Amino acid sequence: MGKVVTKFGGSSLADAQQFAKVRDILLMDSQRRYVVPSAPGRRFPEDDKVTDLLYQCHRQASAGEDFQPTFDLIAARYMDIAEELGLKVDLGAALDEVNEKIAAGANADYCASRGEYLNGLLLADYMGWRFVDAAQAVRFDDKGAFQPELTNELMAKCLADGEPAVIPGFYGAKADGSVVTFSRGGSDITGAIVARAVGADVYENWTDVSGFLMADPRIVKNPREISAITYKELRELSYMGASVLHEDAMFPVHKAGIPTNIRNTNRPEHPGTIISVNLPHNSDQPTITGIAGHKGFTVISVEKAMMNNELGFGRRMLGVLEEYGISFEHLPTGIDTMCAVVSSESLAPCRDQVISRIIELTEPDTITVHENMSIIATVGRGMVHNCGTAARLFSAMSQAGINVRMIDQGSSELSIIVGVDDKDFEATIQAIYGAFVL
Ligand code: ASP
Repeated sequence: MGKVVTKFGGSSLADAQQFAKVRDILLMDSQRRYVVPSAPGRRFPEDDKVTDLLYQCHRQASAGEDFQPTFDLIAARYMDIAEELGLKVDLGAALDEVNEKIAAGANADYCASRGEYLNGLLLADYMGWRFVDAAQAVRFDDKGAFQPELTNELMAKCLADGEPAVIPGFYGAKADGSVVTFSRGGSDITGAIVARAVGADVYENWTDVSGFLMADPRIVKNPREISAITYKELRELSYMGASVLHEDAMFPVHKAGIPTNIRNTNRPEHPGTIISVNLPHNSDQPTITGIAGHKGFTVISVEKAMMNNELGFGRRMLGVLEEYGISFEHLPTGIDTMCAVVSSESLAPCRDQVISRIIELTEPDTITVHENMSIIATVGRGMVHNCGTAARLFSAMSQAGINVRMIDQGSSELSIIVGVDDKDFEATIQAIYGAFVL
């Protein structure tokens, strides 16, 4: 029998009704034997996420303020679920322990992790499945860095008997048992870890949307859904800001060749988006898979005659960025020009020093700094099979009267990246989408 690992996000487990939907989904397919829950999320737009309330308790306790009213809100969320579902687990004792530890000065990671821990206890009781504390298997080193290989071994051991299990998301522990969390949204990573450890056939990530869209719906009206995408394409899109899945959740499953299926708990019949390592090319597949972008970049452009003859020019320029801890996003170059695209936020605190130092080390003819730039990536595995993709993209931009300030196309032909003024950001995405999809 195949193995399916499921992960349910906070909105999928926000109250008793959502729990019931999760149970139906799990029971619908007997291959679904491992489940990774998030903490209860928002039930309605103005509601609080339990994780946010737990961080708030920690802040209040550290500042010597009364955190009890906040903790009571959290306790009520879990009690309501347990009561409505008629669960038997001794939730009172588990809540008391968390309450005492917060009062005794537990750190932020411990406090935040209890959202998933307590939800895991409830779900295990509701399903009649075993509860496996992630602290036993998800391992971080002394400095708090995640240890993927050790984790894989420990998790595989914990789940070796093949019995169905509930493994709370978002946290793990150091060897001494102290709890460490991933960054926000990190239950996605735990799900991928479990999928890799048990050698799952598929990792199902259940959330409140039916998968990825080709473009941001705030910019493009009713964008098409993406039914299939490769991990590499998704990496390009999520790097540019398209977010449904935590960025780090792709690595364990991609490495193990396990597909991820994004599904909607509120529309379980919808097939969602499938992310896989390779996808066969078929000619009716759209040339582009998706478009995503970001505002807020700065381009530092350096010009010097005969730059191409000067050994080490690029190293000196990039060395300055390294000196100031700034990573560059793109590096378009010409014969006598070199541009570094960096995030404006990272440059802001040391902008003048960086420019003076580049001038000092490279002695350029001119240096210009262009702020308020957006970077937009058009991604598609189909580009490599189609001539004229770039021509179509740029003519759509020119017809929309948009000035292209920068172009970058990786040799993989997986994406075309353009830089435009921030004011043209939305219009660029609309023009590209229109050229390929409408
Ligand atoms: N509960 C955590 C958060 O809100 C982790 C997660 O939901 O994935 O960030």
